[in-house]
Amino acid sequence: MAVAPASQMFQLQPYTPPAWATNLALLPKQRCHLAQLPTPIHPWPVPGVPPGCELHIKRDDLTGMQLSGNKVRKLEFLMAEAVQRGHDSIITIGGIQSNHARATAVAARYLGLPCHLILRNSKHLADSDPGLVGNLLVERLIGAHIWQVTKEEYGRYGGPALGERLAAQLRQAPWGLNPFVIPVGGSSSMGVWGYLEMMREVEQQIVGQGFTDIAMACGSGGTTAGIALGNHLGGLGLRVHAYGVCDDPDYFHTFCDGLLEGLGATRDVVGADSAGMFRAVQARGAGYAISREDELQAVADVAAATGIVLDPVYTGKALHGLLTEMRERPEEWRGRKVLFVHTGGLLGMYEKVAQLQPLVEARGAAHRLQLDD
Ligand SMILES: *Cc1c(COP(=O)(O)O)cnc(C)c1O
Repeated sequence: MAVAPASQMFQLQPYTPPAWATNLALLPKQRCHLAQLPTPIHPWPVPGVPPGCELHIKRDDLTGMQLSGNKVRKLEFLMAEAVQRGHDSIITIGGIQSNHARATAVAARYLGLPCHLILRNSKHLADSDPGLVGNLLVERLIGAHIWQVTKEEYGRYGGPALGERLAAQLRQAPWGLNPFVIPVGGSSSMGVWGYLEMMREVEQQIVGQGFTDIAMACGSGGTTAGIALGNHLGGLGLRVHAYGVCDDPDYFHTFCDGLLEGLGATRDVVGADSAGMFRAVQARGAGYAISREDELQAVADVAAATGIVLDPVYTGKALHGLLTEMRERPEEWRGRKVLFVHTGGLLGMYEKVAQLQPLVEARGAAHRLQLDD
């Protein structure tokens, strides 16, 4: 699994699935090389992990492609699907600071495809310029087209219908495009392949090392579905904990069952449904992309103690959820060896600078260097 030579980057490559996945109904034949793989795993001495429990981190924040995190793995399969089907442009959809939209914009640019992003913003902001904070800076520098909708419009039409509406407009003059629509978070059944493949990587990395648990943030569900199904089919035997940052556990199970069905991995075929493959834990806090002070404090504490910066919307909430569970029931975590998947998202932190300022200032002011002359 060496890094592809420069000549192979961004090219379609033949893809052979892991042996344990070859019975699935949806099998990709090709994949685009976009990610820097394998990502490292290393010990992660986070304060608050109970005695007798070991925490390690899988650095999927280091997949490359302008800090694109977990979305690169899904895009390797989604972009291959788009190119194979002869599409000439990409549409995707997300929140105004969507990491997925940014990652998709970069992948599309790499492959020479125009990219159109539908971004959900507050009603009072959707008619003005969205600015250049965080993910928007990258998207706009690389020339992605941005189409804003309000949260109300998003709620009324839903992501799939909005994607189809924009696709219909782009098929007309003056655009005349044949766009491929990628759903929110890249979480189609094809996107799940990114994390099935990641479990083959993990399997090789952790063999014989006694890991017992794997934990991750869950937003649109594709990452969790891939990890949980890969763990199940590959017989890794890990307990899978998905910390939901936007919806309830029931929603995630229903949605992931749909993703699994699209892969041909229904209960009668693989012997379990999503509820049998992972536990979903409520970690939404004050709401999607809204940070509570204790969550940001956890992010700041972990950064200061270990040098690893999480993001406020996904990984910060997931780790906060995991640490809360460990604090409330430490005996359940004794003897466990837990792998936390860092799914990226650093650019989203820029939107929280005002909220972070007092937490960071409380550690001490910046110094003024005094010079004699
Ligand atoms: C999108 C995202 C997630 C959630 O992954 P899903 O596959 O959408 O559940 C987690 N972390 C970060 C940083 C993300 O951008």
